[in-house]
Amino acid sequence: MNILISAQNIHKSYNTLSGNTEVIKGISYAFEENKIYSIVGRSGSGKSTFLHILGGLCRPSEGKVLFQGENLYMKSDEQMAIFRRRHMGFIFQQYNLLEEHNVLNNICMPAKLDHGNIDKKFLQEVVGLLGFEDKLKRYPSQLSGGEQQRVAIARAILAKPELVIADEPTGNLDRMTEEITINLLVDCAKRYGQTLIIVTHNHEIANKAEEVLYIEDGTLI
Ligand code: ADP
Ligand code: MG
Repeated sequence: MNILISAQNIHKSYNTLSGNTEVIKGISYAFEENKIYSIVGRSGSGKSTFLHILGGLCRPSEGKVLFQGENLYMKSDEQMAIFRRRHMGFIFQQYNLLEEHNVLNNICMPAKLDHGNIDKKFLQEVVGLLGFEDKLKRYPSQLSGGEQQRVAIARAILAKPELVIADEPTGNLDRMTEEITINLLVDCAKRYGQTLIIVTHNHEIANKAEEVLYIEDGTLI
């Protein structure tokens, strides 16, 4: 087994009006390549904060994140942005699609921001797999929640990232759509050899992962 990304003694504190609060209290964990993980825990336990730290979106107060052995937070903001676009895909509860762009532009946006070249064959494959080839010209507001999330999945994986991070990806979907969406996410991860980390508080979804991590009050239990 090869390690893709490892968190080493991660701490994160926020300065708030009530003083300094530590929300991540020393998490260490190594995530393997090509493996499905879920992270569960109560609301406010630190799941999103930890995920953002892994994804290069939030600098830890202490500790290191190594991606294929490389220390993520040694990068400049610009290097980090480029690195994220090439090696990581993000999926959020609120889909985070650009409302003023159609589906096709939404999917291609990260690649366009990066180098401009789109692997058209792969794009077609992914769109077919996720089942919205007939909706590429539509705008996000003309899609259902499940469809919007499938567009977000396509956007996340188009650059063939090694890591896909999903924060409560089905939090806004009904049960049936939730099941379909998670199965697609897992299928894509397996098909393209990605490591997938899903934060969820749904235990049924969590159990689709090969490994389940429990976080409580900023620590892994
Ligand atoms: P979860 O995703 O498990 O619900 P979060 O990681 O979002 O938890 O939040 C963990 C704790 O950190 C919460 O108590 C939250 O209020 C606090 N927190 C998150 N972001 C900030 C911030 N930017 N400033 C201050 N406190 C924050
Ligand atoms: Mg959260």
